[in-house]
Amino acid sequence: MKKSYYNFLFQPKDGKNIVYNSRTGAMAELDEAHMEQLRDWTEQEIMEKNPAFAEALLQNGFAVADGVSEQDMIQYDSFHARFGSRSLGLTITPTQDCNFRCQYCYEKDVIKPAYMNEETQEALIAYVKENLVPEGIMTVCWYGGEPLMALPVISSLTQKMLAVCEEKHVEYKADIVTNGYLLTQETVQELLRCKIRQIQVTLDGSRETHNQRRPLAGGHPTYDVIWNNLLALKAYEKEILVDLRVNVDKSNYQALTDVSEEIRRNGMEHFVRVYPGKVVSDGGCYQQDVCFENREFALLEESFFKDNRKHLPARYPKPRHNVCGADAEGSMVIDAEGFMYKCWMDVGNRTLSVGNIKSGTWGNEALLYQYMLYEPVKDEACSQCKYLPVCLGGCPHERLHGKKGCTTLKETVQDYMEYLPEVMEQNCS
Ligand code: SF4
Ligand code: SF4
Repeated sequence: MKKSYYNFLFQPKDGKNIVYNSRTGAMAELDEAHMEQLRDWTEQEIMEKNPAFAEALLQNGFAVADGVSEQDMIQYDSFHARFGSRSLGLTITPTQDCNFRCQYCYEKDVIKPAYMNEETQEALIAYVKENLVPEGIMTVCWYGGEPLMALPVISSLTQKMLAVCEEKHVEYKADIVTNGYLLTQETVQELLRCKIRQIQVTLDGSRETHNQRRPLAGGHPTYDVIWNNLLALKAYEKEILVDLRVNVDKSNYQALTDVSEEIRRNGMEHFVRVYPGKVVSDGGCYQQDVCFENREFALLEESFFKDNRKHLPARYPKPRHNVCGADAEGSMVIDAEGFMYKCWMDVGNRTLSVGNIKSGTWGNEALLYQYMLYEPVKDEACSQCKYLPVCLGGCPHERLHGKKGCTTLKETVQDYMEYLPEVMEQNCS
């Protein structure tokens, strides 16, 4: 038996001893004597003096059997998650059109009035039939452009996908990413009929800041319409969860507090989760010097969640076995014209499409393999990194663009552990 490479020992200010393992996600509070044993690891002593402790260490991954490579374990879990999942996850853009012209939009060059036609919808349903695993799970994320500009497509496709899921005993879940401008009462009712229970809306601050950053295509302000639509969602607070994203950069980070306070003032925190989104200058779509570096953003995020402890449990550093849909076989982004992509940052850019559901042909196959087959355990820095199991080499899209998307946990885990006792209490209550 040997000590895990992925153990982290913490002594928060309250005097407790915490051990956390990033490969298994296990965490334990130890008394001084046990912490001492773990710190000054002598296998024989642990086994002889305290076999129950040794067993607990093994079971939770704080120790592993001799001869087993933890990197092999990470790799094995990763292969399984990428290629052995029973879920089909589709991000569908029913239209490539958008009623907004946000300053930092990475899709600005591909926005166009393309709506998914009947032929593409049929091809999509055929794709679903072919790729659904009986008794598995299907998740759909409606994305755009602005997906609510194509509500009839969402309704029609949903009914057909639900029928296929029912036939194959598959559980169906859906969410939507919308700018919130068209989120009227009638639309919300239709979204509920379409089994959409989670809505992501973006608000970039107070009226003035938001309007400057996220105007309509014709330049008109959008804040008041979005805000009134959000207020009206109170009527559905038991059925819908709203993720209210505040896209921040160096010019508007105060927006996070402004939006959060507004939600609190209106008594909406129980169904509206405010969180910061990082504005990036993908392909030069925005001014790079205004965007936060990863480290700066991590610190801002951490300080925000420290003040909003309700969301702390969701931030627990869990190990992951694949990074996102980009490295999962059962996950695909499909645009309004039937082109398929591995990452939604690529959507609309044909040279980055990996295939087409209508023609059934492959597209940029090389890119598909670059997304799917990356092995972070073979990367010089990642293979030495204790955060590897929770990061797996970071965002695949950033990696393919020559950046190392190191997990922000590197900056924040120590701090997180400081208020961990509160997190544990919330988890157990
Ligand atoms: S709402 Fe989304 S797709 Fe539309 S312009 Fe803004 S960022 Fe781009
Ligand atoms: S990308 Fe960075 S944080 Fe992630 S595993 Fe590699 S070295 Fe570690």
